[in-house]
Amino acid sequence: MPLKSFINVSPDSDFPIENLPFGVFKPREGHARVGVAIGDLILDLAVLEELEFFSDVVAAAVPSGRNRRNLPPEMAAATTLFASDALNAFMALGRPAWKKTRDILQNLLSAETGTLRDNEELRARAFHKQNEVTMQLPARIGDYTDFYSSYHHAHNVGTMLRGPENALMPNWKWLPVAYHGRASSIVISGTEVKRPHGQTKPPDASAPVFGSSKSLDFELETAFFIGPGNPLGQPVSIDQAEDHIFGILLMNDWSARDIQTWEYQPLGPFLAKNFCTTISPWVVTLEALEPFRKNLAAQDPAPLPYLKRANDFTFDIHLEAHLQTTKMREAQTITRTNFQNLYWSIAQQLAHHTVNGCNLQTGDLLASGTISGPTEESRGCMLELTWRGQNPLKLSEAETRKWLEDGDTLSITGWCQGEGYRVGFGEVSGRIVGA
Ligand code: CA
Repeated sequence: MPLKSFINVSPDSDFPIENLPFGVFKPREGHARVGVAIGDLILDLAVLEELEFFSDVVAAAVPSGRNRRNLPPEMAAATTLFASDALNAFMALGRPAWKKTRDILQNLLSAETGTLRDNEELRARAFHKQNEVTMQLPARIGDYTDFYSSYHHAHNVGTMLRGPENALMPNWKWLPVAYHGRASSIVISGTEVKRPHGQTKPPDASAPVFGSSKSLDFELETAFFIGPGNPLGQPVSIDQAEDHIFGILLMNDWSARDIQTWEYQPLGPFLAKNFCTTISPWVVTLEALEPFRKNLAAQDPAPLPYLKRANDFTFDIHLEAHLQTTKMREAQTITRTNFQNLYWSIAQQLAHHTVNGCNLQTGDLLASGTISGPTEESRGCMLELTWRGQNPLKLSEAETRKWLEDGDTLSITGWCQGEGYRVGFGEVSGRIVGA
């Protein structure tokens, strides 16, 4: 039987009772706290925690006989899960506690349950309107890694740089390529994006010049949060990888292509990427994504054993990028792609990241890389959409774009389509301002 909430949720809302994504918000009055989105509302988990609705949650995370002193510091030290400006304590608890919380919330929000439905005073305290709060970063992000896991993105970029015969580097189909990004410049959706300055070297110039980037780009990506981490020196096997993944959100990895072209060899991206990375506020859990799980496509060559998992999986998540210039009345969709365009799975990314003993920690963010598909309209950045500026995007009779210009707003949305409902991610959006 389909779930039904006493909260009225439209069929095209991103946030029905089947979803219940977690985020951190600041109400008009009071401190930041954790909530879940339901329709146009947010359910305030700090209020429910104070009333002891979650007393079974920590117990679900602590197997009997386990010494509480051995728990990860986020769990042992936390006096609250939800009256907090970050999801870290909750994410550290692990899947049994996440599932228990989801059960409690779905029951409380169900049309069949009277606890909230029939208590007007409690409802007034526990619900906020989304358009009356300020969303914040959902977690304290210690480390951030960006993969490069879409075959079509890697192939397109490689073709531009080296020609179609040598498009992929020899390692690409053997391991999920990534670089370590910078966590300090990750910002929440809605934050203005300041066009960066830097060194660039025009192709015909004999020396580099300094100035603001002239080829500012977006990258349509998703990213996932690490729940429980792993100790230094103890890799996470691919079969256990899923237990360390809390949930997924949308990400825009803003990129300055002219700075990148001059600086990237031999150690990879640096100032072309770390000036700003924007994430969406709502984290969609793997539990909510479960009905949209798909088998990962067969990989050729077969991966090495540590990257091989029986029934490795992906999700059917439709993804779009929208561009709105200052001259447009409404945004124009410029990319339609899907999470299934990722060659490497999130389990493979996590297993590979830790195989050398690298310790992931609660709140670390692991991003997908630009998610491009096989068609021109499914390319996930301007670099590919305009083929390095050679074929400008025609936006209207009057407007074209090679790269993003000051005043442009770039938004990314995503959702899984169920029967009569969708499990959506909201959006990640940012407007470019001149430096
Ligand atoms: Ca990227």
